Amino acid sequence: NNPGCNYLSCTIKSSLNKYVGFATLPNQVHRKTVKKGFTFTLMVAGETGLGKSTLINSLFLTDLYRDRKVPNAEERIGQTVDIIKHTIGIEEKGIKLRLSIIDTPGFGDAVNNTASWKHVEDYIDQQFEQYFRDESGLNRKNIQDNRVHCLLYFISPFGHGLRPIDVECMKALHEKVNIIPLLAKADSLTQAEVYSKKLKMRDEIKQFGINIYQFPECDSDEDEDFKRQEQILKDSIPFAVIGSNIQVDSKGRKFRGRSYPWGVVEVENPIHSDFLMLRNMLVRTHMQDLKDVTREIHYENYRAQCIQNMTRMMPGPLNRSATDFLLLSFQLRKMQEVLERIQEQMQQSQTGTC
Ligand code: GDP
Repeated sequence: NNPGCNYLSCTIKSSLNKYVGFATLPNQVHRKTVKKGFTFTLMVAGETGLGKSTLINSLFLTDLYRDRKVPNAEERIGQTVDIIKHTIGIEEKGIKLRLSIIDTPGFGDAVNNTASWKHVEDYIDQQFEQYFRDESGLNRKNIQDNRVHCLLYFISPFGHGLRPIDVECMKALHEKVNIIPLLAKADSLTQAEVYSKKLKMRDEIKQFGINIYQFPECDSDEDEDFKRQEQILKDSIPFAVIGSNIQVDSKGRKFRGRSYPWGVVEVENPIHSDFLMLRNMLVRTHMQDLKDVTREIHYENYRAQCIQNMTRMMPGPLNRSATDFLLLSFQLRKMQEVLERIQEQMQQSQTGTC
């Protein structure tokens, strides 16, 4: 009877008085994603010998490179960059993660490295292309996401900042993948050297217009401790890392470390390196954001480019209508997905209340 009350606002009000069951939505999403499992694809690049395989083993407590054969100098002269994929299933407290590591042996090893990163770039594009095809096909429910979510780029600790190949490579890839630069073998540098090299590299990254992965901005209502941690993370780029494949036994403690005549370096000790910060960031705090940025920015750029290229190949008048058609079919598909999701949620909440 209220003249100011239209149908929609009345419905919302009445539903607020009763318990309908929306509060279970997070649980439903949680159950569904846990059942499906998680996937994450990590790529590593950088000159041979910078400790890439050792770091990956240390990060995920695996031994991924057991059968690896390192080529000799002669074999490496004319070597091209290979792309090797290792996939492992990790389970922790019932949560399954399918982790894929994309290795790029041969990167920067040839006499002429002008196009060292071309293979890496092609690989990233191929994964986008495959996803684009699958997404446009009929069996969209079972798409395997092989898109590269993060690239750990190893920088030598022995140079004076970035080398030309680092600049060229990161610039060639920064629009396609989330780049996280790492200062490799940090135990070979003093604390002051780590500090000054980090400063120089951050300056160069800015100066050369390289867009590395940006940590998301904190919301203003976030607590102070969280904001401080995020700032430390941003100021630590490039992460200074140390890796080791062996367990050291020292003073009654066992840990992954490197033993030298003058002392022992602990991989997971935050005073010795940023290893722990990197692992926490990759696994505990930013894995989902890395995936979101891949999907929403890098993949969307690729998709937009694809659609543009496809329509450009058509003759003039067809060009405009083809663009409209592609956009319309994409919107229809998105709507269909939303409807399917709503239907599923309704079914689940009905079974939940029965
Ligand atoms: P990759 O070719 O980049 O995969 O490098 P590897 O992981 O095979 O490491 C090459 C060599 O460097 C091996 O002898 C490792 O033991 C050593 N190494 C790996 N990580 C570190 C590190 O953090 N510090 C030091 N000093 N040496 C390392």
